[in-house]
Amino acid sequence: MILQTLARFSNLYGGNPELVLAGGGNTSAKDGNTLYIKGSGTRLATVAPEDFVAMDRGRLAAMLDKTYPQEDAPREAAALADLMAAKLPGQEAKRPSVETLLHALFPMRYVLHLHPALVNGLTCAADGKAWAEKLFPQAVWIEACKPGYILAMLCRERMAQYKSRTGRDAQILLLQNHGVFFAADDVQTLDTLLCDLLGTLRAHCAQTPDFSASADEDAALGSRLAALYAPGAVYRFCGAAEAVRFSESLTSMQPLLEPFTPDHIVYCKAHPLYLPRGCDVQAAFADYRALHGYAPKICYVQGGGFYALSETAKQADTAMLLALDAVKIAVYSRAFGGALPQSKALTEFIVNWEVEAYRAKLAQ
Ligand SMILES: [Zn+2]
Repeated sequence: MILQTLARFSNLYGGNPELVLAGGGNTSAKDGNTLYIKGSGTRLATVAPEDFVAMDRGRLAAMLDKTYPQEDAPREAAALADLMAAKLPGQEAKRPSVETLLHALFPMRYVLHLHPALVNGLTCAADGKAWAEKLFPQAVWIEACKPGYILAMLCRERMAQYKSRTGRDAQILLLQNHGVFFAADDVQTLDTLLCDLLGTLRAHCAQTPDFSASADEDAALGSRLAALYAPGAVYRFCGAAEAVRFSESLTSMQPLLEPFTPDHIVYCKAHPLYLPRGCDVQAAFADYRALHGYAPKICYVQGGGFYALSETAKQADTAMLLALDAVKIAVYSRAFGGALPQSKALTEFIVNWEVEAYRAKLAQ
C-alpha cells in the first residue's frame, strides 16, 4: 500500500515539467525499519512500485555517524559501497538514488525532492538566501556543496540547528543551485507544502518567461552543427522569444554561460557554445572542443535562439528542455538579485564525477 502511494505521488509530480525534468528529483517513503527510495536511472514520471529500492534504515543511520576519507575519490567509493550494502535482501540488482542518505535524515514518512524552475529562480540567485529567509522562514537554506555524502552531512547539521532554534523538525530544505526537499507524514501535507511554496514564489516573480516563437529555424545551420557534433547526430531548434533575447549579445548571454545546477551539466554539458553573427562556425566548434575536450550540446546563435545537439532525438529533446529550464531560471532569478551560477569548483567536481560515473558504467 505504501509503495502504491509513493508511486502515485511520484508520477503525479514527476509528470509535471514545471516541477522536474528527465531523470531529476527523487522520492521516498518509510515503513518501520525500511526506507523505500527511487532507484537511480528511473524517472519520477514513470516509476512503478517495484522500481523503488528497499533499504535498511539502521544501516543508513550508521553511515551518518561513520567517518569517511577526506579525499573525494576514496570517500565516494566507500560511501557508495556502504550504500549498496544497506540494501535489503532481494534488492541486489537495484541501485538506490545518490541522495538516499538525505532522505533518511527526515523523521517524516514521505519525502519529495524536485527541481522546479520557479524554485531554482530563488536558489540560483545572488540574493537567494536573504529572500528565502524573508519569504520562507519555515524552510532551511542549504549552501551549494558536493552531492551525496557531503550534502547529507551538511543537511544534517543545518536541520539540527533549525530544530534547536525552533523546536521543530524541518519539513522544507531549499538547496542552493539545486532544488527543494519536502517532508511530511501524509501526502496531503506534502502537497500543501509544495503548493504554498510555489504560490508565494509565483506571486513574488513579476516577470514570467516569454516562450512565444520569435526566431526562425535555420535548417542548414542546424544540420551543419549536428554533423560537427557527431556523425548521424540530430538537432532541435528553440526560437522562443526569451531565448532569443538572451542570444542578442555576449553580455545578454552572461546568465547562461555557466551552469545553474547539476542537472544542466548532466543533460546540456557545463557550457553552451556562443556563435556571434558571421563567425566561422567550424572554427568556433573546434575551439570549444579543444578547450573542453567534448563537443557542445547547446549552441546559441547571436539573435537567433539556440540549437540542442545529441546522438539521439530523445537526448536532443531532453537537452533542449533543460536549456529552456536554464532560461526560465535566469528570468525568475531577476526577482532575487539576478542569476548566480554554480561555483566553478563545484562544476569541475560534478563534471569529473560524471566522467567517473560514465567510466564505471562502461566497466560494468
Ligand atoms: Zn536533486
